[in-house]
Amino acid sequence: AEGLSAEKLQSVIESAYDRYKDLDEGANADYIPILATVPSDLFGIVITTKEGEVFTVGDVDYQFSIQSVAKPFTAALVMQEHGPEKVQEDIGVEPTGLPFNSKLALEVHEERSVNPMVNAGAIAVVSMVPAENEDERWEKIMDNLEAFAGDDLTVLEEVYQSEYENCWSNRAIANLLFNYGRLYCEPEEALRVYTRECSVGVSALDLGMMGATLANGGTNPATQEEVLDADHVPELLALMAIAGFYDESGEWMYTAGIPAKTGVGGGIVAVVPGEMSIAAFSPRVNASGNSVKAMKAIRYIAGELGVGVFGAN
Ligand code: GLU
Repeated sequence: AEGLSAEKLQSVIESAYDRYKDLDEGANADYIPILATVPSDLFGIVITTKEGEVFTVGDVDYQFSIQSVAKPFTAALVMQEHGPEKVQEDIGVEPTGLPFNSKLALEVHEERSVNPMVNAGAIAVVSMVPAENEDERWEKIMDNLEAFAGDDLTVLEEVYQSEYENCWSNRAIANLLFNYGRLYCEPEEALRVYTRECSVGVSALDLGMMGATLANGGTNPATQEEVLDADHVPELLALMAIAGFYDESGEWMYTAGIPAKTGVGGGIVAVVPGEMSIAAFSPRVNASGNSVKAMKAIRYIAGELGVGVFGAN
């Protein structure tokens, strides 16, 4: 990043860490029972530049479930396979302004009321991955997440079990999508594969590299693998900008100014296009399902570095 020295990047994440480490607002998500057992005080922040340089503070190695932070990366896979127009036509790209698990969003506008960053759109994304069967569908999704991370990842089986046993709301969404002809495989298959992608274990370091791959025009800075065509990166970042924080997406872009995606596991990854990613993890989430500390830390860092995409906030 021009004009941003290594010292500056390290010192800004350390001040963000000090500023927010004692904050205990919010609570672990517990609608997926096992998420309530993750130690709530964990907090880590990572900056990864597009050259692959890494700056860290706090609990950056702890493995948590990726949850909805998987959504943009699997949307990238579908864009790569079918092109961005297909995502626009078959799923939609409008913000819902509604909670992440909204069924209402599906009823308001049957043609195109959701986007790949909310559950309904993400379940549809999974169903659009070209595959002969469920195993192949899953392998493609996992391989793609690993290519973004530049590392082997594993499914946290206990998280998968806990979530799959309690996924009545997502099952309703999958069934509604299927009813409207907007799901492109069997609903239960889409639900299982979607739940499995949410259960993939990542650390803040992994999220950092995944985001840095987007910051670097779709090429992983560590492995040099071209994971997403550079000319699809803008569409993907646009989706993160309009819907990365569910019903807080407007507030996020207004106050932080950089595209980002959150997950109820407490992870967030933000992308400064052409520069770096800023990733953070902390399990306590607010009513919208967004990590309180991670959100505040990334917003503070973006502000201090003056890297908002529309200008320095
Ligand atoms: N697996 C979660 C769900 O479907 C993801 C939600 C989130 O991370 O916001 O409910």
